[in-house]
Parts: sequence; structure tokens; C-alpha cells
Amino acid sequence: MKKIAILGSTGSIGTQTLEVVRCNPELRVVALAAGSNVEKMEEQIREFKPVLAAMWSEEAAAQLRSRVADTGVKVTAGMEGLLEIAVMPESQVLVTAIVGMIGIRPTIAAIEAGKDIALANKETLVTAGHIIMPLAAKCKAAILPVDSEHSAIFQSLNGEPKDRIEKILLTASGGPFRGRRREQLEHIQVEDALNHPNWSMGRKITIDSSTLVNKGLEVMEAKWLFGVDLDRIQVVVHPQSIIHSAVQYVDGAIMAQMGTPDMKLPIQYALFYPDRRFLGGKRVDFFELAQITFEKPDTEVFTGLSLAYQAAEAGGSMPTVYNAANEKAVSLFLDRKITFLQIPELIGKAMEHHKVIEAPTVEQILETEAETYEYILGKVKLLR
Ligand code: NDP
Repeated sequence: MKKIAILGSTGSIGTQTLEVVRCNPELRVVALAAGSNVEKMEEQIREFKPVLAAMWSEEAAAQLRSRVADTGVKVTAGMEGLLEIAVMPESQVLVTAIVGMIGIRPTIAAIEAGKDIALANKETLVTAGHIIMPLAAKCKAAILPVDSEHSAIFQSLNGEPKDRIEKILLTASGGPFRGRRREQLEHIQVEDALNHPNWSMGRKITIDSSTLVNKGLEVMEAKWLFGVDLDRIQVVVHPQSIIHSAVQYVDGAIMAQMGTPDMKLPIQYALFYPDRRFLGGKRVDFFELAQITFEKPDTEVFTGLSLAYQAAEAGGSMPTVYNAANEKAVSLFLDRKITFLQIPELIGKAMEHHKVIEAPTVEQILETEAETYEYILGKVKLLR
């Protein structure tokens, strides 16, 4: 029996993790955490019977507490609740399926408590990779990637030493606006950007996929996860999303992981690693595939990707600025307060404005996040 705790259980990755649990009786859910979706959390508690649950606000936690009073589950709130779940003795694996830098502290606490991490929350590695990876090595905690590209790389590596890697080939679908010119992106609406061609995901990451910022975040995530320099991480646009990423070795061999786009595969692989279990669903049929194609990313139009390389090269606190500026800009775009093209523009401005802090502490990362949010809000006020 493997006992897991899930942060962000009501979201896209969280609910798919629970689908994996439903099909695997050897998995037991011991804790669940979410932001404010009390109704869905109640359903999940009744079905999976965890011992601990957390909601972000005290108000949501109080509502949940009264709704599930008959179940015996303990309901907590806020960062304290997330930290209690992270270190609870009953759990072996923490699934970090929460959005944003809020995932940093619970991830650190879980690693220190000797838990393995099934990591979906890429913001944690992007902003605090220099803290997380050495800590995980010291505490002998496994960081098991859930992001489909990183899982594909992890599967393609399959234990090979990192000095045998020549290049990581990080694939990207190119999003819904692949092939468009800049002027064609001027009037993009929220609905257009939320319409991803291959993957069904949470709203924030779907917008990030349409700007290629998601790929930028993944480049930084790959750098930390696999200890590879930036110039050896190549983004390859592959619109059919069949090859989920690949590793090119020093002898020229390329190992790739392929499959139909389904997040349950990387989630299940992380939960049972190094074992593979049956997973139902559609299989790739090579005879049905009309073609699979590859392109260079258009970094002139999708500047979010080139800005990510710049942020990663600057290092220190700059990836935090990149991530926080994007988070704020995406939420303003979703609220229809800024245009699609203003997302990368604002990220670029925030990066220009920032003075890098080398090897920032968690406190400095969170301060940089808050300052960047403020900077973006100030800029947007000026724009209006
Ligand atoms: P969603 O927006 O679908 O879900 C986010 C989850 O986090 C929800 O359960 C939400 O709760 C919870 N949450 C938000 N804020 C808080 C908070 N302050 N405290 C506790 N819980 C909170 O996101 P996704 O599932 O799409 O993404 C999750 C992470 O995984 C992101 O980092 C994303 O980049 C990464 N990822 C996602 C992929 C995907 O296919 N979706 C693929 C690869 C990586 P509530 O419902 O109550 O708001």
C-alpha cells in the first residue's frame, strides 16, 4: 500500500491523480488540500476518506468542517494546513498539484520529512530549484516529475548518468497560435487562448501554453531536474504531441517517450516508479498517424520563450520575476484587463526593472514575488 497526500486535489492534475487512485487499489489517499472549492473537496473526502484535509482560507475550512463533521476527517487551513499535510507521518509521497509559488514551503517541508515528491507544481523548481534539488539529494528524497515532458525525459533517461546526455529535446505542441504572425495575435480573446489543441489543463497553464511561457518554465524545470546546462536544452515544436520529449545521448542515440496525450500516464509513472502499471485508454496507432512533424519555435513572435532563457541565464531571483510577472499578467488577461501581447511585454519590463539577488532564500523569493506583483499592477494602472 502506498500512501499519498495531494496538494491541489480539486484541480486538473489533482482530479486526474484521484482517477489514477480509483484504478489502483494499492494507492491510499491520506490527505487532500485545495484553495476554495468546498463542494468538490467534500465529494473527494466522502469518496477517498483521507485523515486530513486543508482549505486555503479559514472561511472555506470552517464551511468544510461543518459539511464533513460526520466523517471524522480533520480539517485545517492556510499555510499551516499545507505544512501539516506535507509532513504527516501517514504519507509517503506528496503530490504537488497546486498552482504557484505557494508550493515552495510545503515541498521543502515534505523533503525534510523524508517524503518523495511527485512534482507537478513547476513554479517550485523554477524559482527555488537551487534550494530544492540539493535538499532532496541530502535528504534522499526522490523528485518524480509529473509534467508530461519531464516524465518523458525521466523515462528516456531511465537511470543513465547525466554525463552521457548530449542534449535534451523538449517538445512543445506550439499551442493554438502556432504559425501566426505577431499582428495576428493583437486581438486574441481569452476564449481563443483557452482552446488548447491537444491537452485539457487548468486555465493558467493553458494560457501559458498559448504564449509558450509554459515551455519557458519547463526549460528551467528541466535544467534543475536533470542538472543540464541551458544550451543543451532544445525546444522542438511537435504539433501532434505524440513524442512527449526525448534525450539525445553522447553516441547520437535518441531515446524518446511516445504516447497519446494523457496526464494520467506521467502521474501513474511517478506514483509507481520504477514500476509500470496497466493504464487504460487510447494507444498510439502508427498506421493511423497521418504524419508527425517538427519545427523550430518562433521566438520572434513568442517572446515569452526567449525571455525564459534570459531569465534562466541571469539566474538567482530572475526566474522568480519571470514567473511572478507572468502569473500576474495572465490573471489580468483572464480578467480582460490587458491584451494577449501585453503578457510577454509585462514580463520583459519586470525583468528589466529587477536587480538580481544571487541564490535567494525562500523569504527573498517570496519578497521578489510580491514586489513583482506590485510592479505589474503599477504598470497596468499606468497603461490605462
Ligand atoms: P488547476 O488550476 O486546475 O488546479 C489548481 C489546484 O490548486 C486546485 O485544486 C486549487 O484549489 C488548488 N489551489 C490553488 N490555490 C491554492 C491555495 N492557496 N492553497 C491550496 N490549494 C490551492 O491547476 P493544474 O492542475 O492545471 O496545475 C497544477 C500545477 O501543475 C501547476 O503548477 C501547473 O503548472 C502544473 N502542471 C499542470 C499540468 C496540467 O495538465 N494541468 C501539466 C503539467 C504541470 P481550488 O480548486 O479550490 O481553487
